[in-house]
Amino acid sequence: MTDERSSEHASVLSVDARHVWHPYTQHHTWPPPLDAVRTEGAYIHTRDGRRIFDGISSWWVTLHGHGQPEIAHAIAEQARTMEQVIFTTFTHEPAALLARDLCAVLPSGLFRIFFSDDGSTAVEAGIKMAMQYHANRGTPRTQIVAIDHAYHGDTFGAMSVSARSVFTNPFASHLFHTHHLPSPHEGDTVSALTTLLDTTAHDIAAIIVEPLVMGSGGMIVYDESILRAIRDLSRARGVLLIADEVLTGFGRTGPLFACERAGISPDILCMSKGITGGFLPMGATAATDEIFDAFLSDDRRRTLFHGHSYTANPIACAAARASLALLNETSATRRATIEATHRTQLARLASHPLVRTPRVLGTIAAFDLANGNDYLNPIGRQLADFALAHDILLRPLGSVVYILPPYCSTADELQTVYSVIEQFLATQ
Ligand code: PMP
Repeated sequence: MTDERSSEHASVLSVDARHVWHPYTQHHTWPPPLDAVRTEGAYIHTRDGRRIFDGISSWWVTLHGHGQPEIAHAIAEQARTMEQVIFTTFTHEPAALLARDLCAVLPSGLFRIFFSDDGSTAVEAGIKMAMQYHANRGTPRTQIVAIDHAYHGDTFGAMSVSARSVFTNPFASHLFHTHHLPSPHEGDTVSALTTLLDTTAHDIAAIIVEPLVMGSGGMIVYDESILRAIRDLSRARGVLLIADEVLTGFGRTGPLFACERAGISPDILCMSKGITGGFLPMGATAATDEIFDAFLSDDRRRTLFHGHSYTANPIACAAARASLALLNETSATRRATIEATHRTQLARLASHPLVRTPRVLGTIAAFDLANGNDYLNPIGRQLADFALAHDILLRPLGSVVYILPPYCSTADELQTVYSVIEQFLATQ
């Protein structure tokens, strides 16, 4: 490293240490962050010359790979033409065509797209749509059902429908009441829902689920039949089904949406993360015409009074359209290769006594390093440090280890990740 480079390095880190507050970071005890300068494919390059394999797609957003040229090009073109415009009074081609293109690939029946900023806001909009839908029809229902260990975001509404946990404890008294069903790996979600709906269906507006994979709660994978049963029960009782596909959308579980894997269509579907291929923040909430129509009225009070300054930002929309176009046959083949590699590699690890409940769904692989998930369990942190020392980025959720790579990752690269995990296990 030249003197100039090393002093720049020191200065970014010292400015960061003085002025930046990082997410989910205990600044008192955590080591300084790495100084990223460039990304390409499955790798993040640091100023001090390291090339780190992104084993978690940078918080599950990087879809095809970092720096995907088609998306970078679409962003540059759009930025030169029209960078931002207020999304009431105006519409624009990037947003209208993106909405059309999304509706063409979403599970059937979803014809309206409401744009927002990220996963949490996509969920907030979905919850508000569901509650106000019932009120606008003159049959108010206000309560939401969620699943234990769920995670739907960090804003107050999203926290309210998430598990009560170390993330939400300081705010617990301000979260609205939600019915929590046992999660599929701990109890009988479907019979608990049946009992609840038998007694309180008249006041339940919606049930919100992470279809097939509950991400932050520990990459809990559950059977398609459970999702189908939840769909049938909710429909029979006039309860809306909100599918939070913020993690699972855009091919993560194999097909474009996890709901598709189970052959169901929700009433409301939330998207974010991979929607722009991981280039720009964007949230989107899809709804049926029936929901949209319940907001049509001469009475302005029936309007969905929700929006964000950057709603449908044209550059983000252009990125999302370019990303959607890349979800073609080649992408499906790559995803299938990742799934096959996960299966063979994880099967090898499974014989280790510390490895529990190995699971794979599409491009997502996970296993537990202890019984039950404890987010503060230090073993995950130890594995993360070990992997990073080998230039691999992993961020276990407590004792739950997962690998969720960009779609450009090769079988060889994944094998390296698994062999580093194996080396870590040998030290335990
Ligand atoms: N829903 C799910 C299923 C998620 O995994 C996340 C983020 N991990 C969110 C919502 C919130 O998304 P964001 O962090 O973009 O607000």
